[in-house]
Amino acid sequence: MDVFSSATDLLRDRRPERPVLALRPHAASRAAAWFLANFPGRVLYAAKANDARQVTDALVEAGVTAFDVASLVEIERVAGIEGAELYFMNPVKSRGAIARAYREFGVRRFAFDTADELDKVLEETDGAGDLTLFLRIACPNTHSLIPLEGKFGASQEDAPALLLKARQRAKRLGITFHVGSQAVVPAAFGEALRQVGQLIVSSGVLVDAIDIGGGFPARYPHSDPPALSSFMEEIVRAADELAVKHSCELLCEPGRALVAEAESVIVRVDARRGNALYINDGAFGTLFDAAYSGFRFPARLVTPDRQKTASPEAEFVLYGPTCDSSDYLPGPFVLPACVDEGDYLEIGQVGAYGRVLANRFNGFGEFDEVLLTDEPMLSMFDSSEDDAQAVWPARA
Ligand SMILES: *Cc1c(COP(=O)(O)O)cnc(C)c1O
Repeated sequence: MDVFSSATDLLRDRRPERPVLALRPHAASRAAAWFLANFPGRVLYAAKANDARQVTDALVEAGVTAFDVASLVEIERVAGIEGAELYFMNPVKSRGAIARAYREFGVRRFAFDTADELDKVLEETDGAGDLTLFLRIACPNTHSLIPLEGKFGASQEDAPALLLKARQRAKRLGITFHVGSQAVVPAAFGEALRQVGQLIVSSGVLVDAIDIGGGFPARYPHSDPPALSSFMEEIVRAADELAVKHSCELLCEPGRALVAEAESVIVRVDARRGNALYINDGAFGTLFDAAYSGFRFPARLVTPDRQKTASPEAEFVLYGPTCDSSDYLPGPFVLPACVDEGDYLEIGQVGAYGRVLANRFNGFGEFDEVLLTDEPMLSMFDSSEDDAQAVWPARA
Protein backbone atom coordinates (compact mmCIF):
# COMPACT_ATOMS: atom_id res chain seq x y z
CA MET A 1 0.00 0.00 0.00
CA ASP A 2 1.41 3.38 -1.00
CA VAL A 3 2.38 5.78 1.77
CA PHE A 4 1.85 9.56 1.66
CA SER A 5 2.53 12.30 4.16
CA SER A 6 -0.97 13.75 3.72
CA ALA A 7 -4.01 13.77 1.44
CA THR A 8 -2.49 16.77 -0.35
CA ASP A 9 0.68 14.78 -0.96
CA LEU A 10 -1.43 11.95 -2.42
CA LEU A 11 -3.25 14.26 -4.82
CA ARG A 12 -0.10 15.99 -6.02
CA ASP A 13 0.29 13.61 -8.93
CA ARG A 14 -2.90 11.55 -8.93
CA ARG A 15 -6.56 12.23 -9.68
CA PRO A 16 -8.08 9.05 -8.24
CA GLU A 17 -11.27 7.93 -9.97
CA ARG A 18 -12.52 5.92 -7.01
CA PRO A 19 -12.89 7.16 -3.45
CA VAL A 20 -9.70 6.58 -1.46
CA LEU A 21 -9.71 5.02 1.98
CA ALA A 22 -6.80 6.67 3.72
CA LEU A 23 -5.54 4.62 6.66
CA ARG A 24 -3.68 6.04 9.64
CA PRO A 25 -2.72 2.91 11.57
CA HIS A 26 -0.60 5.04 13.91
CA ALA A 27 -3.83 6.60 15.20
CA ALA A 28 -5.19 3.15 16.06
CA SER A 29 -1.89 2.30 17.81
CA ARG A 30 -2.05 5.46 19.88
CA ALA A 31 -5.66 4.80 20.92
CA ALA A 32 -4.87 1.21 21.85
CA ALA A 33 -1.81 2.24 23.84
CA TRP A 34 -3.94 4.77 25.73
CA PHE A 35 -6.61 2.22 26.62
CA LEU A 36 -4.04 -0.39 27.63
CA ALA A 37 -2.31 2.12 29.90
CA ASN A 38 -5.43 3.69 31.36
CA PHE A 39 -8.17 1.08 31.62
CA PRO A 40 -7.82 -0.90 34.85
CA GLY A 41 -8.46 -4.29 33.30
CA ARG A 42 -8.43 -6.20 30.04
CA VAL A 43 -9.01 -4.31 26.78
CA LEU A 44 -10.83 -6.20 24.02
CA TYR A 45 -11.12 -4.79 20.52
CA ALA A 46 -14.69 -5.05 19.17
CA ALA A 47 -13.66 -6.49 15.82
CA LYS A 48 -16.73 -5.33 13.91
CA ALA A 49 -15.76 -1.65 13.97
CA ASN A 50 -13.01 -1.92 11.34
CA ASP A 51 -11.69 -5.04 9.60
CA ALA A 52 -8.72 -3.57 7.73
CA ARG A 53 -5.61 -5.71 8.20
CA GLN A 54 -3.34 -2.70 8.79
CA VAL A 55 -5.65 -1.32 11.47
CA THR A 56 -5.96 -4.64 13.29
CA ASP A 57 -2.19 -5.16 13.01
CA ALA A 58 -1.60 -1.73 14.53
CA LEU A 59 -3.84 -2.57 17.50
CA VAL A 60 -2.04 -5.87 17.98
CA GLU A 61 1.39 -4.25 17.76
CA ALA A 62 0.27 -1.80 20.44
CA GLY A 63 -0.53 -4.76 22.68
CA VAL A 64 -4.17 -5.71 22.10
CA THR A 65 -4.53 -9.48 22.36
CA ALA A 66 -8.24 -9.93 23.09
CA PHE A 67 -11.14 -9.55 20.69
CA ASP A 68 -14.90 -9.23 20.96
CA VAL A 69 -16.28 -11.17 18.01
CA ALA A 70 -19.84 -11.72 16.85
CA SER A 71 -19.62 -14.14 13.92
CA LEU A 72 -17.60 -17.02 12.51
CA VAL A 73 -16.15 -14.73 9.86
CA GLU A 74 -14.84 -12.39 12.55
CA ILE A 75 -13.53 -15.37 14.49
CA GLU A 76 -11.68 -16.71 11.43
CA ARG A 77 -10.22 -13.29 10.79
CA VAL A 78 -8.69 -12.78 14.24
CA ALA A 79 -8.11 -16.40 15.32
CA GLY A 80 -4.86 -16.47 13.34
CA ILE A 81 -3.34 -13.69 15.43
CA GLU A 82 -0.78 -15.17 17.74
CA GLY A 83 -2.02 -15.39 21.32
CA ALA A 84 -5.46 -14.01 20.43
CA GLU A 85 -8.14 -14.50 23.07
CA LEU A 86 -11.61 -14.57 21.56
CA TYR A 87 -14.79 -13.50 23.31
CA PHE A 88 -17.91 -14.59 21.39
CA MET A 89 -20.16 -11.86 22.79
CA ASN A 90 -23.07 -11.87 20.38
CA PRO A 91 -26.00 -12.83 22.65
CA VAL A 92 -27.65 -14.79 19.81
CA LYS A 93 -25.40 -17.29 18.03
CA SER A 94 -26.19 -20.13 15.66
CA ARG A 95 -25.62 -23.63 16.97
CA GLY A 96 -23.14 -24.26 14.17
CA ALA A 97 -21.17 -21.15 15.03
CA ILE A 98 -20.97 -22.07 18.72
CA ALA A 99 -19.78 -25.60 17.91
CA ARG A 100 -17.13 -24.47 15.41
CA ALA A 101 -16.00 -21.63 17.64
CA TYR A 102 -15.48 -24.04 20.52
CA ARG A 103 -13.98 -26.97 18.63
CA GLU A 104 -12.05 -25.42 15.76
CA PHE A 105 -11.06 -22.06 17.15
CA GLY A 106 -10.72 -22.80 20.86
CA VAL A 107 -13.24 -20.14 21.90
CA ARG A 108 -14.08 -20.54 25.59
CA ARG A 109 -15.84 -17.26 26.35
CA PHE A 110 -19.45 -16.75 25.37
CA ALA A 111 -22.22 -14.30 26.14
CA PHE A 112 -25.89 -15.21 26.67
CA ASP A 113 -28.97 -13.32 27.75
CA THR A 114 -31.67 -15.98 28.03
CA ALA A 115 -31.95 -19.52 29.41
CA ASP A 116 -32.43 -20.78 25.84
CA GLU A 117 -29.15 -19.25 24.68
CA LEU A 118 -27.32 -20.57 27.74
CA ASP A 119 -28.66 -24.07 27.01
CA LYS A 120 -27.59 -23.73 23.39
CA VAL A 121 -24.02 -22.88 24.38
CA LEU A 122 -23.90 -25.75 26.89
CA GLU A 123 -25.36 -28.25 24.42
CA GLU A 124 -23.12 -27.31 21.52
CA THR A 125 -20.02 -27.52 23.72
CA ASP A 126 -21.17 -30.86 25.24
CA GLY A 127 -21.49 -29.34 28.68
CA ALA A 128 -17.86 -28.24 28.67
CA GLY A 129 -16.36 -27.51 32.05
CA ASP A 130 -13.99 -24.83 30.81
CA LEU A 131 -16.34 -22.03 29.78
CA THR A 132 -16.39 -18.40 30.80
CA LEU A 133 -20.00 -17.30 30.49
CA PHE A 134 -21.08 -13.66 30.44
CA LEU A 135 -24.66 -12.72 31.21
CA ARG A 136 -25.56 -9.73 29.04
CA ILE A 137 -27.92 -7.48 30.94
CA ALA A 138 -30.11 -4.73 29.51
CA CYS A 139 -29.12 -1.24 30.55
CA PRO A 140 -30.39 2.20 29.61
CA ASN A 141 -28.69 3.75 26.56
CA THR A 142 -29.87 7.26 27.35
CA HIS A 143 -26.39 8.83 27.12
CA SER A 144 -25.46 7.41 23.73
CA LEU A 145 -25.82 8.82 20.21
CA ILE A 146 -26.42 5.35 18.77
CA PRO A 147 -28.57 3.43 21.29
CA LEU A 148 -28.28 -0.35 21.07
CA GLU A 149 -30.93 -1.20 23.65
CA GLY A 150 -34.05 -3.24 23.08
CA LYS A 151 -32.49 -6.03 21.07
CA PHE A 152 -30.38 -7.79 23.68
CA GLY A 153 -30.01 -8.07 27.41
CA ALA A 154 -31.67 -9.86 30.32
CA SER A 155 -34.18 -7.76 32.25
CA GLN A 156 -33.74 -6.97 35.93
CA GLU A 157 -36.45 -9.55 36.69
CA ASP A 158 -34.84 -12.38 34.71
CA ALA A 159 -31.17 -11.70 35.43
CA PRO A 160 -30.83 -13.20 38.96
CA ALA A 161 -32.13 -16.64 37.97
CA LEU A 162 -29.98 -16.67 34.82
CA LEU A 163 -26.91 -15.77 36.84
CA LEU A 164 -27.61 -18.55 39.32
CA LYS A 165 -28.15 -21.11 36.56
CA ALA A 166 -24.96 -20.11 34.75
CA ARG A 167 -22.94 -20.11 38.00
CA GLN A 168 -23.57 -23.84 38.29
CA ARG A 169 -22.18 -24.53 34.82
CA ALA A 170 -19.50 -21.93 34.22
CA LYS A 171 -15.84 -22.23 35.13
CA ARG A 172 -15.83 -18.45 35.27
CA LEU A 173 -18.90 -16.24 35.35
CA GLY A 174 -19.22 -12.68 34.17
CA ILE A 175 -21.74 -9.91 33.64
CA THR A 176 -21.65 -7.65 30.61
CA PHE A 177 -23.61 -4.72 29.18
CA HIS A 178 -23.38 -2.13 26.44
CA VAL A 179 -24.29 1.49 27.19
CA GLY A 180 -24.77 2.30 23.47
CA SER A 181 -22.28 3.54 20.91
CA GLN A 182 -20.77 7.05 21.15
CA ALA A 183 -21.74 7.34 24.82
CA VAL A 184 -20.86 10.93 25.61
CA VAL A 185 -21.54 11.02 29.35
CA PRO A 186 -19.21 9.14 31.74
CA ALA A 187 -22.14 8.54 34.11
CA ALA A 188 -23.50 6.02 31.57
CA PHE A 189 -20.84 3.56 32.78
CA GLY A 190 -21.30 4.40 36.46
CA GLU A 191 -25.05 3.86 36.26
CA ALA A 192 -24.66 0.51 34.50
CA LEU A 193 -22.01 -0.62 37.00
CA ARG A 194 -24.36 0.25 39.87
CA GLN A 195 -26.99 -1.89 38.18
CA VAL A 196 -24.45 -4.74 38.09
CA GLY A 197 -23.76 -4.20 41.79
CA GLN A 198 -27.46 -4.43 42.61
CA LEU A 199 -27.77 -7.62 40.57
CA ILE A 200 -24.88 -9.24 42.43
CA VAL A 201 -26.47 -8.34 45.76
CA SER A 202 -30.03 -9.31 44.81
CA SER A 203 -28.99 -12.63 43.28
CA GLY A 204 -26.40 -13.50 45.90
CA VAL A 205 -24.21 -14.80 43.06
CA LEU A 206 -20.55 -13.79 42.93
CA VAL A 207 -18.99 -13.14 39.56
CA ASP A 208 -15.40 -13.35 38.37
CA ALA A 209 -15.56 -10.75 35.61
CA ILE A 210 -17.43 -7.62 34.63
CA ASP A 211 -17.21 -6.60 30.99
CA ILE A 212 -18.39 -3.01 30.59
CA GLY A 213 -18.69 -3.29 26.82
CA GLY A 214 -17.92 -0.59 24.29
CA GLY A 215 -19.47 2.80 23.73
CA PHE A 216 -16.43 4.99 24.44
CA PRO A 217 -16.72 8.10 22.31
CA ALA A 218 -14.64 9.52 19.48
CA ARG A 219 -14.54 13.18 18.49
CA TYR A 220 -16.78 14.54 15.72
CA PRO A 221 -17.91 18.06 14.80
CA HIS A 222 -21.32 17.40 16.38
CA SER A 223 -19.97 15.59 19.42
CA ASP A 224 -17.10 16.82 21.55
CA PRO A 225 -17.11 14.41 24.50
CA PRO A 226 -15.25 14.90 27.76
CA ALA A 227 -11.75 13.43 28.02
CA LEU A 228 -11.55 9.65 28.13
CA SER A 229 -9.77 9.92 31.47
CA SER A 230 -13.03 11.17 32.99
CA PHE A 231 -14.69 7.97 31.77
CA MET A 232 -11.96 5.94 33.47
CA GLU A 233 -12.38 7.89 36.71
CA GLU A 234 -16.14 7.27 36.69
CA ILE A 235 -15.63 3.56 35.99
CA VAL A 236 -13.12 3.18 38.83
CA ARG A 237 -15.37 5.08 41.22
CA ALA A 238 -18.35 2.87 40.43
CA ALA A 239 -16.37 -0.38 40.28
CA ASP A 240 -14.93 0.43 43.68
CA GLU A 241 -18.39 0.13 45.22
CA LEU A 242 -18.78 -3.47 44.01
CA ALA A 243 -18.86 -6.20 46.64
CA VAL A 244 -16.72 -8.38 44.35
CA LYS A 245 -14.02 -5.81 43.78
CA HIS A 246 -11.16 -7.90 45.13
CA SER A 247 -11.99 -11.08 43.23
CA CYS A 248 -13.24 -9.74 39.94
CA GLU A 249 -11.61 -8.80 36.64
CA LEU A 250 -12.76 -5.76 34.67
CA LEU A 251 -12.94 -5.86 30.88
CA CYS A 252 -13.94 -3.36 28.23
CA GLU A 253 -14.68 -3.75 24.51
CA PRO A 254 -14.08 -0.49 22.68
CA GLY A 255 -14.64 -0.49 18.94
CA ARG A 256 -15.24 3.08 17.85
CA ALA A 257 -12.77 4.72 20.26
CA LEU A 258 -9.89 2.56 19.03
CA VAL A 259 -10.38 3.02 15.30
CA ALA A 260 -12.48 6.11 14.51
CA GLU A 261 -9.40 8.25 13.93
CA ALA A 262 -7.61 5.60 11.90
CA GLU A 263 -9.33 6.31 8.57
CA SER A 264 -10.43 9.16 6.35
CA VAL A 265 -12.11 8.88 3.00
CA ILE A 266 -10.93 11.10 0.15
CA VAL A 267 -13.76 11.86 -2.24
CA ARG A 268 -14.20 13.85 -5.43
CA VAL A 269 -16.91 16.42 -6.05
CA ASP A 270 -18.70 15.39 -9.24
CA ALA A 271 -21.24 18.20 -9.23
CA ARG A 272 -22.12 21.29 -7.26
CA ARG A 273 -25.72 22.51 -7.15
CA GLY A 274 -26.01 25.49 -4.86
CA ASN A 275 -24.79 24.36 -1.47
CA ALA A 276 -25.21 20.67 -2.35
CA LEU A 277 -22.11 18.73 -3.37
CA TYR A 278 -22.51 15.42 -5.22
CA ILE A 279 -19.54 13.24 -4.23
CA ASN A 280 -18.33 9.75 -5.16
CA ASP A 281 -18.95 8.08 -1.78
CA GLY A 282 -21.98 8.22 0.47
CA ALA A 283 -24.57 6.49 2.62
CA PHE A 284 -23.99 3.13 0.93
CA GLY A 285 -20.24 3.61 1.21
CA THR A 286 -18.25 4.71 4.23
CA LEU A 287 -20.65 7.48 5.25
CA PHE A 288 -23.66 5.47 6.47
CA ASP A 289 -23.70 7.19 9.85
CA ALA A 290 -23.82 10.63 8.23
CA ALA A 291 -27.04 9.63 6.46
CA TYR A 292 -28.79 7.51 9.05
CA SER A 293 -27.35 8.31 12.50
CA GLY A 294 -27.17 12.09 12.38
CA PHE A 295 -23.37 12.09 12.33
CA ARG A 296 -21.32 14.96 11.04
CA PHE A 297 -17.77 14.19 9.99
CA PRO A 298 -14.99 16.75 9.68
CA ALA A 299 -14.35 17.70 6.04
CA ARG A 300 -11.66 19.71 4.31
CA LEU A 301 -10.82 20.73 0.80
CA VAL A 302 -7.64 19.00 -0.35
CA THR A 303 -5.60 21.23 -2.61
CA PRO A 304 -2.15 22.80 -2.57
CA ASP A 305 -3.84 26.06 -3.62
CA ARG A 306 -3.71 28.20 -0.48
CA GLN A 307 -6.02 30.79 -1.95
CA LYS A 308 -8.76 28.20 -2.22
CA THR A 309 -8.30 26.74 1.25
CA ALA A 310 -8.18 30.23 2.74
CA SER A 311 -11.43 31.35 1.11
CA PRO A 312 -14.41 32.07 3.44
CA GLU A 313 -16.27 29.01 4.67
CA ALA A 314 -19.80 27.90 3.94
CA GLU A 315 -22.03 25.03 5.01
CA PHE A 316 -22.73 22.26 2.53
CA VAL A 317 -24.91 19.18 2.31
CA LEU A 318 -23.58 16.15 0.48
CA TYR A 319 -25.19 13.62 -1.83
CA GLY A 320 -23.61 10.22 -2.48
CA PRO A 321 -23.21 8.67 -5.94
CA THR A 322 -26.16 6.24 -5.98
CA CYS A 323 -29.60 6.93 -7.41
CA ASP A 324 -31.30 6.54 -4.03
CA SER A 325 -32.53 9.84 -2.60
CA SER A 326 -31.70 8.61 0.92
CA ASP A 327 -28.05 8.78 -0.18
CA TYR A 328 -28.06 12.22 1.42
CA LEU A 329 -25.74 13.50 4.14
CA PRO A 330 -27.29 16.58 5.71
CA GLY A 331 -24.20 17.52 7.72
CA PRO A 332 -23.73 20.42 7.51
CA PHE A 333 -20.16 20.04 6.26
CA VAL A 334 -18.08 23.20 6.62
CA LEU A 335 -15.84 23.85 3.59
CA PRO A 336 -14.36 26.77 1.69
CA ALA A 337 -17.20 28.46 -0.16
CA CYS A 338 -15.36 28.13 -3.49
CA VAL A 339 -15.43 24.31 -3.56
CA ASP A 340 -16.50 23.06 -6.99
CA GLU A 341 -16.72 20.13 -9.37
CA GLY A 342 -13.42 18.28 -9.71
CA ASP A 343 -12.23 19.22 -6.22
CA TYR A 344 -11.26 16.55 -3.72
CA LEU A 345 -12.34 16.50 -0.08
CA GLU A 346 -10.96 14.63 2.89
CA ILE A 347 -13.72 13.44 5.19
CA GLY A 348 -12.21 12.35 8.50
CA GLN A 349 -13.06 10.11 11.47
CA VAL A 350 -14.65 7.37 9.35
CA GLY A 351 -12.46 4.59 10.79
CA ALA A 352 -15.27 3.21 12.94
CA TYR A 353 -18.20 1.66 11.07
CA GLY A 354 -17.12 3.24 7.78
CA ARG A 355 -15.59 0.62 5.48
CA VAL A 356 -17.44 -2.23 7.21
CA LEU A 357 -20.85 -0.82 6.33
CA ALA A 358 -20.01 -0.02 2.71
CA ASN A 359 -21.82 -2.08 0.09
CA ARG A 360 -21.86 -2.31 -3.69
CA PHE A 361 -25.27 -0.76 -4.36
CA ASN A 362 -25.54 0.74 -7.85
CA GLY A 363 -22.07 -0.51 -8.75
CA PHE A 364 -20.26 1.75 -6.32
CA GLY A 365 -18.38 0.67 -3.22
CA GLU A 366 -14.90 0.07 -4.60
CA PHE A 367 -12.10 2.03 -3.00
CA ASP A 368 -8.42 2.68 -3.50
CA GLU A 369 -6.42 2.44 -0.29
CA VAL A 370 -3.39 4.37 0.87
CA LEU A 371 -1.52 4.97 4.12
CA LEU A 372 -1.15 8.48 5.51
CA THR A 373 1.45 9.43 8.09
CA ASP A 374 -0.06 12.74 9.21
CA GLU A 375 -2.38 13.32 12.14
CA PRO A 376 -6.11 12.51 12.07
CA MET A 377 -8.44 15.47 11.56
CA LEU A 378 -9.72 15.25 15.16
CA SER A 379 -8.37 13.30 18.12
CA MET A 380 -9.24 12.20 21.64
CA PHE A 381 -5.58 11.35 22.27
CA ASP A 382 -3.66 14.49 21.43
CA SER A 383 -3.35 16.00 24.88
CA SER A 384 -0.82 14.49 27.24
CA GLU A 385 -2.51 15.74 30.43
CA ASP A 386 -5.25 13.23 29.66
CA ASP A 387 -3.19 10.46 31.21
CA ALA A 388 -4.50 9.96 34.73
CA GLN A 389 -3.77 6.25 34.91
CA ALA A 390 -6.73 4.61 36.61
CA VAL A 391 -5.98 2.03 39.28
CA TRP A 392 -8.58 -0.46 40.43
CA PRO A 393 -9.38 -1.51 43.05
CA ALA A 394 -8.65 2.06 44.08
CA ARG A 395 -8.99 1.44 47.82
CA ALA A 396 -7.30 -1.42 49.60
C1 LIG B 1 -20.52 -3.05 18.86
C2 LIG B 1 -20.12 -3.62 20.15
C3 LIG B 1 -19.01 -3.10 20.82
C4 LIG B 1 -18.25 -1.89 20.35
O1 LIG B 1 -19.03 -0.75 20.51
P1 LIG B 1 -18.40 0.72 20.26
O2 LIG B 1 -19.55 1.62 20.49
O3 LIG B 1 -17.90 0.74 18.87
O4 LIG B 1 -17.31 0.90 21.25
C5 LIG B 1 -18.62 -3.74 21.99
N1 LIG B 1 -19.30 -4.80 22.48
C6 LIG B 1 -20.38 -5.31 21.86
C7 LIG B 1 -21.06 -6.48 22.46
C8 LIG B 1 -20.84 -4.73 20.69
O5 LIG B 1 -21.92 -5.23 20.09
